[in-house]
Amino acid sequence: MKPGKTYSIRLKFMYNLTEGLDGFYLSTYKDKDGQVRTLATTHFEPTSARKAFPCFDEPQLKAKFLITITHSRSLQSFSNMPKKEESDVRGKNDQVRSEFMESLEMSTYLVAFVVCDFDIIEKKTDSNVTIRVIAAHDKISQAKFALDQAVQITQNYERYFGIPFPLPKQDLIAIPDFEAGAMENWGLITYRETALLNEEGVSSSLDTQWVAVVIAHELAHQWFGNLVTMQWWNDLWLNEGFASWMEYKGVDEVEPDWKMMDQFWINEVEPALDLDSLQSSHPISVQVQEPSEISALFDYISYRKGASIIHMLEQFLGEEHLRKGLEIYLKKNKFKNTVTKDLWNACTEATNNTKDVMGMMNTWTLQMGYPLIIFSRIGNSSVWNITQSRFLLAGQLNGTNSSLPASPYNYKWNVPVSFKTNLGHSREILLGSKDNDTSKVVTLDEKIKWIKGNTDGVGFYRVNYPTQIWTMLINQLNTDLSVFSGADRAQLIDDAFSLCMAGLLPVSVPVSLSTYLVKETDLVPWKIALRHLKSWKALLSDGPGGSAVDAFISFLVENIYKKLGWFEAGTHEQRLLRTVVLSAAVDAGLKDAVDRSKQIFTDVMDNQSKISSELQGFVYCTGVREGGEEEWNWIFKKYISTNIPAEKSHFLKALACSKDIFTLQRFLDKTLDKSQIRHQDVKSVLTSTAMNPAGTLLAWRQYRKFWDRYNKMFGDGMTNMGNIGAGIISTFSSSFDLEQVEDFFEKHETGGGKRAIDQAVEKIKVNIRFVELSAESVVGEVNIIVNRRKNLA
Ligand SMILES: [Zn+2]
Repeated sequence: MKPGKTYSIRLKFMYNLTEGLDGFYLSTYKDKDGQVRTLATTHFEPTSARKAFPCFDEPQLKAKFLITITHSRSLQSFSNMPKKEESDVRGKNDQVRSEFMESLEMSTYLVAFVVCDFDIIEKKTDSNVTIRVIAAHDKISQAKFALDQAVQITQNYERYFGIPFPLPKQDLIAIPDFEAGAMENWGLITYRETALLNEEGVSSSLDTQWVAVVIAHELAHQWFGNLVTMQWWNDLWLNEGFASWMEYKGVDEVEPDWKMMDQFWINEVEPALDLDSLQSSHPISVQVQEPSEISALFDYISYRKGASIIHMLEQFLGEEHLRKGLEIYLKKNKFKNTVTKDLWNACTEATNNTKDVMGMMNTWTLQMGYPLIIFSRIGNSSVWNITQSRFLLAGQLNGTNSSLPASPYNYKWNVPVSFKTNLGHSREILLGSKDNDTSKVVTLDEKIKWIKGNTDGVGFYRVNYPTQIWTMLINQLNTDLSVFSGADRAQLIDDAFSLCMAGLLPVSVPVSLSTYLVKETDLVPWKIALRHLKSWKALLSDGPGGSAVDAFISFLVENIYKKLGWFEAGTHEQRLLRTVVLSAAVDAGLKDAVDRSKQIFTDVMDNQSKISSELQGFVYCTGVREGGEEEWNWIFKKYISTNIPAEKSHFLKALACSKDIFTLQRFLDKTLDKSQIRHQDVKSVLTSTAMNPAGTLLAWRQYRKFWDRYNKMFGDGMTNMGNIGAGIISTFSSSFDLEQVEDFFEKHETGGGKRAIDQAVEKIKVNIRFVELSAESVVGEVNIIVNRRKNLA
């Protein structure tokens, strides 16, 4: 071809609809009468557009797309743009030809089309954009909540970004077989059914919140990701980190009572801190070439750490400066591609060049991990030293530090360190802003008793204090916890447990700190404390530690358990908390909780009485765990017959709760039969069975035994196989199991899933060390507390 000349290329291309979950694929569902119906749908991100049509399938090669689909007259078709016209097909009366309007400049991975027999509901936004929710005929009644949310969120985003919604319409469609949660195809967002449909009275508060959050996430992409797209996949985090942060802001504006920004910490920041404390983590921005490397990037680091550092930046710059920066970035680059630097430059411009955003943020995106900030006092004086060093969960595990990859910033960060004191002072200093200095000396009031670092958990770092400060903090929590925000309390708990896991604090600190929980009434501190205690229980369940931790949990939750009760009432937060507390009480074996849970299950099964939407998850689980074959079969029948996706997923999880290994094996075997369990749900079955102590080894065996078949089930098998494997093995805590794991993965290639396996292996090593060094102290420490309480009673 000659340079400067335009050529037009015509290609004939044949493609059979596949049964995988990417490219252009086939999905089926049953209608009310049990008839099987089929639909054809697409999922292209990151590299599957090439499976559906010939293209230069890279995000920076944007084009305008003209799409025409010939299909059966009894079906409808949808694509990114509105339909231009429908015409007859000569000689074929039963077919029509649907032609769509030409798209705007866009990347291939955002192209989408669906052919199906679904129903539609629609509404217009104030700025005249048509929003439609599309679902199977007998599920369309569950689409109303999504439609209302989508309209409001779209309107709010138009204001926030200062840019009108770029397309004439926005469709949100519920697909019965779907790999991810949702996909932000421009103008035609595809969703897993549980992420879009909502049935009042059946969907729990958490189910409903999930729908709102996913809608807000995908709509944010319509600007950030679709209108402006990353140049190459190494900057995937730009898309995903941003949308994962914006999903909370988006829902927060529509549902201010849901306290979304408090939940941001527990759902996004904390899981990212947890993963990024492994030396097998990776920097946010990494070089990738192969499709398998690209798909491995869709992980907690891109999504959750990405979101966390944008949140930290917002606090550092101020809300309006960040918003303005985003507006500058989007307006300057619309219909184009960008690299991370473009966003930082736009943010600096928004501050009138007063802040070096890139200088600070590069230390967060170009190296992995995060700092541990240590406050120490020089004697009893007013002089404090604040230092940073990289926090590693594995700490000084044998031989693990020798292979650390080099970092351009030598594992030092530019950290905005905030803190407050018992005298009510609060301050923020920037550590490492010059020459990456690792410590700063500050002079504070001599009368200070305690310091609490990282105000409201906004910063992406952990904090440690000298023993006497921990003691003061614990005293403060026990005397008046209201001086700390809920996020502060949650973060103190999380830091104490994590530092203990890393071998930097004795078991006594997280245990004695947890005792204040008898007075705690906020969701987020409870969630994080129970997350850590459940993990202790799982690790120690081979010895006396499991039941000791159960007794401790029972002691801690008793007050809040009585206070919340079993009836549906209260705010959104209280409803979420009720589910968390009641299910923890049941799991820990609190007698009253187990009895009531069993009674409710019997009433539902025998008398078809209605169950509160918030209770169904753990009540069904209890019913299966305490029951036999009859109960299990009853739940399975309900699982097959319900047409409410939220309910379906509760039933599926409950099926993994059985104590009977033969029942569990039967359940696992159903994953090999698509007519019993959809491929999209296989991962959930394997990992939830593994989370049940009776099922862990069965799931691990199943996964190895049917390696080839599971591998074939997924479009991009390897990455999924790595993630599923990691989910199954991550609670292993013995050298024997570790050996088996290492041996198996030496012989089985996991491609893009290798990193997930490496991370799980590192976690197992940390688990082994914890059990060896701390199992006894856990039993000793929690027994002291539980016995003291018994003696008082
Ligand atoms: Zn996304």
